[in-house]
Amino acid sequence: MNVPESIRNEKDFQECVTFHGHTCMGVTIGYLAAKLAMKLLEHKRSIDEELITIVENDACCCDAIQVLTGCTFGKGNFFFKDYGKMAFTFGNRSNGKAIRLLLKPEVFAVPEQEQKLLELIRSGKASPEDIKKYETMTETRETDLFSGGPEAFFDVQDIEMTLPPTATRAPSTPCVICGEMVLQTKLKEVNGQMICKSCQ
Ligand SMILES: [Zn+2]
Ligand SMILES: [Zn+2]
Repeated sequence: MNVPESIRNEKDFQECVTFHGHTCMGVTIGYLAAKLAMKLLEHKRSIDEELITIVENDACCCDAIQVLTGCTFGKGNFFFKDYGKMAFTFGNRSNGKAIRLLLKPEVFAVPEQEQKLLELIRSGKASPEDIKKYETMTETRETDLFSGGPEAFFDVQDIEMTLPPTATRAPSTPCVICGEMVLQTKLKEVNGQMICKSCQ
């Protein structure tokens, strides 16, 4: 799928690409998800931790979401669930609102006729007319999809959720085995001694 010029030329999209490293459909999906979420939650980029994001995959899209929402791995308001779903939850701590965006399955669905033309092209038996027809079909389908804006890409679910607590800032103490400083909350008691995860 081609990312249209209208999106490529956006300054905030370019910031996502700079962070991510390349232009791809994944970063575009993340860009559109973040745009839609911020609009629906009436929110600007998260300065501190008032906005939280939960992603259910670890693909390219997650980078655009971090750049646009300000929910980042380092700030502790970006949570990863390894579910393998193109789903993104955004919650606003200030008003308790949360939404989950799920990529519509039809976004990447290719009609049968277009798929057959593609196979013909790949087999090397396509005529120049077939190729032209295929290109027109693809372009029309993608233009139609993008003209619908972010709403065309996602199903939106209003959800009830207890937003994760703000990042804890626990003190550190040394592990009795390696002697390295460890967040107290990450140590585990083994036979009465506090041991870090790498020594367990
Ligand atoms: Zn990518
Ligand atoms: Zn240790």
